[in-house]
Amino acid sequence: MATPLPGEWRRTHTCGELRASHVGQTVTLNGWVQARRNHGGIYFIDLRDRYGVSQVVLDEKVAATVRLGPECVLSVRGKVNARSAANVNKERDTGEIELVAEHVEVLSPSRTPPFVVDGDEEVSTETRLKYRYIDLRRPQMQKNLIHRARLISAMRRAFENEGFLEVETPILTKATPEGARDYLVPSRVHPGEFYALPQSPQIFKQILMVGGIDKYFQVARCFRDEDLRADRQPEFTQLDMEMSFVEEDDVFAVWERVMAHTFRESMQIELTLPFPRLRWEDAMERFGVDKPDMRFGVELKDLAPWASTSTFGVFTAALSAGGRVMGIALPAVHALSRKDIQALEEVAKSLGAQGLAYWKAAREGSSGPLARFVPDAASAEHLMGLLGASAGDTCLFAAGKESQVRRVLGELRTQLGKRFGLADRAIQAFAWVTHFPLFEYDADAGRWFSAHHPFTAPEDWTLGGDGADPGKLASRSYDLVYNGWELGSGSVRIHRPDVQEKVFQILGIGPEERQRKFGFFVEALASGAPPHAGFAMGLDRIVALSLGLDNIRDVVAFPKTASATDLMCQAPSTVAPEQLAEVHVKCIPAP
Ligand code: ASP
Repeated sequence: MATPLPGEWRRTHTCGELRASHVGQTVTLNGWVQARRNHGGIYFIDLRDRYGVSQVVLDEKVAATVRLGPECVLSVRGKVNARSAANVNKERDTGEIELVAEHVEVLSPSRTPPFVVDGDEEVSTETRLKYRYIDLRRPQMQKNLIHRARLISAMRRAFENEGFLEVETPILTKATPEGARDYLVPSRVHPGEFYALPQSPQIFKQILMVGGIDKYFQVARCFRDEDLRADRQPEFTQLDMEMSFVEEDDVFAVWERVMAHTFRESMQIELTLPFPRLRWEDAMERFGVDKPDMRFGVELKDLAPWASTSTFGVFTAALSAGGRVMGIALPAVHALSRKDIQALEEVAKSLGAQGLAYWKAAREGSSGPLARFVPDAASAEHLMGLLGASAGDTCLFAAGKESQVRRVLGELRTQLGKRFGLADRAIQAFAWVTHFPLFEYDADAGRWFSAHHPFTAPEDWTLGGDGADPGKLASRSYDLVYNGWELGSGSVRIHRPDVQEKVFQILGIGPEERQRKFGFFVEALASGAPPHAGFAMGLDRIVALSLGLDNIRDVVAFPKTASATDLMCQAPSTVAPEQLAEVHVKCIPAP
């Protein structure tokens, strides 16, 4: 066989491309060896790339020219052959043909891979992350990354169609208060000084508004040094945007059009617009959480009118202490076992409840621990009316401080939703939750914090006047909620320097700190800041959720572990003393 000319190894087709129409053509494929079989001197190889798998046939003579191992990279030139009807593989797009190799070249050998790329064995997360380059060859990972790219590209196009300008903001910057710890980068040329990696482009996007860039967006990497959870990464990507001369409705309308376009383009799903809106207070009252899954009912109900006349001391005591008595009703078709009830009681207790009162609803002959406090048919009728319950439904109750009652019942509702699959998977339940509180009090720190961030406008520009209770102020912030997940947050911003100063005061940021950290920003606000508002969506999360995944690790090419390490390149790592000296840093050994 003649030595191939330089460059002849390059593919003419991908491994997913060949069909019956190519039969008779001489082609070259490049790809990875996924599987090898020897059938009495004839060798079969499954050759894979990201487009698919093609079967290659090698006779003994050709096979003798190469040493093939799993995952080695080949160039195969040969003729496309039609498979006999009996040998057609219907599972594969290329199943009607095979490539009869005339020349095979090993472009790159492979070490024995740590796991089989197309195998069904369970591979640990650690191994997958350590050998991410092998993991990325798995069709599932490739599907996830392709979906991610399509979704982001559809979103970009949607914002461009809306007249938004993509602007990049700095990565080496000053701390932005989003409520997490900053990642710091020491400066070499300014000894003892540090940059912070952005927790979000918040301050820059607002300054872009002052700069007249009235419609901005960016696919922005954000960095937050927080304790990690399943759906968090220390660096993550947001679709960040800001607009001038607008209020809430304008931001909502843009995002609704963008989401409709994105779902249509990347998933062929038609969304129903506009998305429902509900105030934070109503979300908490009806669902007990600020990110309700609205694909099912089982809403929280106020039972005070019944409880106030009942003889159950726990309930009457809660009411007279200014607390609440609330309940939820689970339809009778979803039978709760004793074990289920015990598990729910544990959940309630872990959230601070003393126990879990339940009642199997019936006008007569009801059961459960609460039954003896429902003395007659009239009382049962009253309670069932308030709960919206039918005979046979399981009703769960909570009594005590309002925040705790909501928290307990909200969590029970969520868990019941999961346990009984109450959510209709065919529904895309988007909703805007608006008017979150402006401030939250942290008793440990003894001070107020912004519930969203300090640049969020109050509902009342006077901040309730002098001496108002900051805990009672509503903000003009909003979240977009999707099937029980928070997809992103935003707000109408403070564009008046006097109000911004007042908010800093309430947050206990003194004049010196204000000047040092935000002086430039307040000056910008004082230099002709248009009214503006914006929003940022967590892209990793929407990509994962739209694939039905609840962990964002599978939609990030190179994610970090729960302890913020990169197992593949072993970051973070120590550095040479000279490198530290250069940036004027000395390490204090960990205690
Ligand atoms: N910067 C905010 C965040 O990252 C979003 C926004 O207010 O636009 O949560």
